[in-house]
Parts: sequence; C-alpha cells; structure tokens
Amino acid sequence: MFVVFASSCSQKMESTSFTAMNTYMTVKSYGKKAAAANALVQQEVERLEEILSTTIEGSDVYRINNSNNSDDEFTEIPVRTETAFLIKRGAEFYQMTSGAFNPALYPVIREWGFTTGEYKVPEAGRIQELLKFTDFSKIEISGSSEISRPAGLQLDFGAIGKGYAGDRAVEILRSAGVTSALLDFGGNIQVLGAKPDGSDWTVGVKNPWGEEPVAAVKLRDACMITSGGYERFFTGQDGKKYIHIFDSKTGRPVENDLESVTIICREGIYGDALSTALFVMGLDKAIEFWQQSACDFDFIILTKDKGIVYTAPMEKSISLLFDFDSVRLVE
Ligand code: AMP
Ligand code: MG
Repeated sequence: MFVVFASSCSQKMESTSFTAMNTYMTVKSYGKKAAAANALVQQEVERLEEILSTTIEGSDVYRINNSNNSDDEFTEIPVRTETAFLIKRGAEFYQMTSGAFNPALYPVIREWGFTTGEYKVPEAGRIQELLKFTDFSKIEISGSSEISRPAGLQLDFGAIGKGYAGDRAVEILRSAGVTSALLDFGGNIQVLGAKPDGSDWTVGVKNPWGEEPVAAVKLRDACMITSGGYERFFTGQDGKKYIHIFDSKTGRPVENDLESVTIICREGIYGDALSTALFVMGLDKAIEFWQQSACDFDFIILTKDKGIVYTAPMEKSISLLFDFDSVRLVE
C-alpha cells in the first residue's frame, strides 16, 4: 500500500520587499499562491500611497490640503472611498482618545519641519496661530465620496496609513488563498493565521537602547504596532530632542517619560491609531484608557528609565529578554 503525504510540508515561503509610504516593507507568505498574492499586496500598498500621500500631487490628501478657499468658506472635495473611510475612522479615534490622536495636525507638524527635513522650533505665537486649524471634528463627509473642510484644515494620515495598508494586505492575502503570512511594514507587524506548522508566530519588541529585542511576543491573526520617540526626531539648538509625535493640545512634540508604545490587537488601523495616541497620553492616562476600554487591545510600554509596563492578558504571550530595571503588570 502506498502512503501519499499531503503537500502541507511543502509550504514554500515567498518573501517580497519594497519601499512605500516612506518605509521598508516586507511580506512573507506561505503556500502555492504566495508569490502572486505578494505581488497584489505590493500593488495595493503603492495604490494606497498614491491616494494618501501628503506629497504626491494629485493624491486625495494633497488635493484636500491644497484646495484653496477663503476664510469663512467650506470647500467640498470629491475623494475616493479609502480616503472617506480613513476620515471616518480617524474621527472615531479622535473622539475616543479625546484628541490625542489627531490627523489634522499637519500645519503644525510641517511648521516644525518634519515634512521637509528643515527642522526648527517655531515661535510660540506661530504655533498658537496654527493650532486654530487643527480641529479634526470640523471635517464633514457627505456620503462616501465627498468631504468638506474649513479653510486651513490639512490632513496627514501618517499615524494610521501603514496600519490601514496592513489590514488591506491581510485581506488581499486571505482572499488570494494564503492562510499563513507575516507582514513587516516599517516595524508594524501583522500576521495572518499561524505559522505553517500551526504554531504561533514569535515577534520581537524593538530595543530602544540596543540591538537585541527586549521581549518576544506570540501572535496569531493579530498585529503588533509600535510608536517610538526614537523613530524620527531632531535635536534643537537648545540641545533638546524633538520627536515626530505631537501633542495636539500644545502643538509641540511630545515630551514624556516614554520610549515606545506597542499595541497588540486584531486590526492594524486601530493598533496604529492607539500606539500614537497612547504615546501622546503618557503612562498614567494610557493605563486609565486601557482600563476603561472594551479590552479589545493590549499594550507594552517601555519607559525611559528602562522599565516595562504591560497589560495583564499579555502575560501568557510575552517573554522578557532584557534586564529591565522595573517590570509592571497592569490589571
Ligand atoms: P506613528 O509612527 O504611527 O506614531 O505616527 C506618527 C506620525 O503621525 C508622525 O510622523 C506624523 O506624521 C503624525 N502624527 C504626529 N503626531 C500625531 C498625533 N498626535 N495624531 C495623529 N498623527 C500624528
Ligand atoms: Mg500610529
């Protein structure tokens, strides 16, 4: 009698890397459909960038930000469904985080030079002037294809674009028949299913003080998304470090005792919005936010004094790989 082994052991891995959304992206998929599916993912991410980029002329965001209108007038702008979706979800996150997540900070962020690389610390008066244009709740959507915005309001989906692209990528892989994949979109990790052998994926938490990951986390059909002060910053003439994550109340880069915030949840866009928002909130408010939430996410926060704080449900999936000065579990 012949025994025919099913071809599940022949799950070949296909890796595709490309640069998009100002970051290096890698898709690793398994199985016969992997190569074709990865190519579709790359196409989709490039398409989304064409729609959401602040700098590509003709993108929806560029058109929103550069359509002229006089001071007291709302401008109506037709947009694609993806842009309308991000604005709707953005509004949800803006409200949920009491404005800590705010995709309308673009005029302020640009003034500090984060869009051009010509960094500077603006005058306090100039920041106050620009903060008047950053009320994201003033943007309106009619249907799914037209938005209107007041004069001066400008958008930047830098804090959720990669997470959203990851969600789209996972959908594409799934509908192409891939059941096992790992995406790394500039440090944002999203996994589809489990590893081909059925075990969990193990993903490292980046070390802000060295090379080796500070923790390993087991994941399955989930994402792990990090916002870190070390990712992008400049040093001012005053010797201070100014990071790329902004506090919408002050119009200034966040200054707190956090090194990074990592969110573990199901949906990339949600994790991406929350990693940025909890970073802005700081440790105490982030803890309170989690305690009052629907517990549909977990976090790992690294503090500048070499501490780690994580939510209790993480205990079963996290292994610490670093000699932390303090370890705290949040219940
Ligand atoms: P992330 O790396 O996901 O935390 O996103 C940071 C990027 O989002 C920055 O480079 C800015 O483009 C933008 N950003 C900065 N501060 C905020 C904020 N408070 N809310 C929303 N977007 C922000
Ligand atoms: Mg984010």
